[in-house]
Order: sequence, then C-alpha cells, then structure tokens
Amino acid sequence: MDNYYPSGRSNVLKFPHDPGEEDTEMQVKCTECNSKAIISSRNELDPKVADLYCICRNPHCGHSFVMKLTYSHTLSPSSFQARRMATDIFRGLPKSEQLELLQQLQASA
Ligand SMILES: [Zn+2]
Repeated sequence: MDNYYPSGRSNVLKFPHDPGEEDTEMQVKCTECNSKAIISSRNELDPKVADLYCICRNPHCGHSFVMKLTYSHTLSPSSFQARRMATDIFRGLPKSEQLELLQQLQASA
C-alpha cells in the first residue's frame, strides 16, 4: 500500500514524496464535513485489506467511521517477487537445462 496515490476524488490522501507536505502519515478526510480525520486503529482483515477506524478532527463534527483500505495492483514488482519468479521458473526446467543455465551464468560472470 505504500505507493498508492489516489485521485482527488478519494477520501484517502497520501503524498509521502511531496516536499511541501511534512506529514507523511496516511490521511483520511471525514465523509461528512471533509475535515482531516485521524486513524485511531487499524484492523487487518487480510494482508491486502484493512479496516481503518477514523475520528474526525473537527470538534463541531465528531464523526467516527470506518474506511476500508485495499491493495489494488503492482506498479513495479518487488525484488523479492522477481527472485521468487526466477526460482520457480528455474525449478520448472529439466535438470540438464538447469545445469546448462548455471554454466552459462558462471561463464558470463
Ligand atoms: Zn467531520
């Protein structure tokens, strides 16, 4: 979820690389008054889904609510993912091709 930059229509705002923005925490806007809200707790339902328990910071509003945070998609694969994929592909090859590939890699190193 670290690299998700939602559009202006979203209630979840995050601009960690904006030099003008000192607060790098994820921010949520109140669905009733559009003021900033704080995330009081987070309930992980799954590694890719969480409920965010939010409280509006506007003292005249006081709305408390739950926002759902979900993973959407990968923009650039993790190096861990690439290594896992390479390992899976390598293991899928016959032993003779594995050895041939290893020899090629050693020769080019
Ligand atoms: Zn509010």
